[in-house]
Amino acid sequence: MKRPRARSGEHHTMTSIGFIGLGIMGAPMAANLADAGYDVIGYNRSPDKIDALVKHGGRAATSVAEATKGADIVITMLPDSPDVTEVVTGADGVLANAHPGQLLIDMSTIRPEVSRAVAAAGAEAGLRVLDAPVSGGEAGAIEGTLSIMVGGKPADFETAGPVLEVLGSTIVHVGPSGAGQTVKAANQLIVAGNLQLLAEAIVFLEASGVDLDASVRVLGGGLAGSTVLDRKAANMVNRDFTPGFRLALHHKDMGLVTAAAREAGVVIPLGATVAQLIGALVARGDGHLDHAGLYKLTSELSHRLPDADLR
Ligand code: NAD
Repeated sequence: MKRPRARSGEHHTMTSIGFIGLGIMGAPMAANLADAGYDVIGYNRSPDKIDALVKHGGRAATSVAEATKGADIVITMLPDSPDVTEVVTGADGVLANAHPGQLLIDMSTIRPEVSRAVAAAGAEAGLRVLDAPVSGGEAGAIEGTLSIMVGGKPADFETAGPVLEVLGSTIVHVGPSGAGQTVKAANQLIVAGNLQLLAEAIVFLEASGVDLDASVRVLGGGLAGSTVLDRKAANMVNRDFTPGFRLALHHKDMGLVTAAAREAGVVIPLGATVAQLIGALVARGDGHLDHAGLYKLTSELSHRLPDADLR
């Protein structure tokens, strides 16, 4: 497990970071940057979420403008494409308050074409823009071990390096603007498929009456092992669907990868099936649950568990 860097580096204290979107992911990421010695000024639409950052020595902003003005780098970690478009290009948004040369790193998971549009609008205002979506979940955000897939200009990637190294342990430049989002869409396809098969395996093992903990342990050591199994099997076994990563966000991401695959002229038959199952969970009001909640629907399809047993 990587620990955030100790507060020490003088160059860090010289660099100020406006951090917009302090939710499940953004709050620990911003806190890690503050712990590493950066001057972090955070903004979130619901202001109570800024408290954690302030406890880590960060500052609270009351608007996007306040988080943007004077910052060397602005990071956004928002739910969806319209949120990023509004925060960056909207009236009194990032671009309206930015200064030339400022670096904008959007770490949200959004549509690749929206990332390209944001980068183009940023370039017109003299900003440097990267799309840098992440994988690794809430645990990866807290530990500073995220996998970060970056689209944009190589020189801007270089500039962002020290900041991204605080947040992640696998940081890869994958191509021009939007490429980070394309790779992230593939990531979400793989994670969704893994989760669904894990849910099916656990329902099957439960129905067969074998020791679940022992089963999960040995499966984790073979070819069936995965980060999804390591991090999510216990949630399914214990019916703990506290988010984590909300099904509503994975529903958004299945929409992203479905559209991107169509655009690329390829089909994703298994992905399409999982997308429908996630869609069913969201439609019936389970969008607030962690995506390990795929287990819930899967077990119900086999009439294994009454709804009352499930959180
Ligand atoms: P979240 O809903 O917990 O956090 C988003 C935050 O943005 C919220 O606190 C919300 O109040 C704030 N916000 C929304 N609109 C705003 C606005 N206009 N101005 C200021 N703040 C605003 O979501 P999250 O789980 O932190 O995910 C953020 C992004 O990261 C999403 O795109 C998601 O797909 C992606 N992601 C999440 C995970 C995960 O495990 N949670 C993992 C990888 C990537």
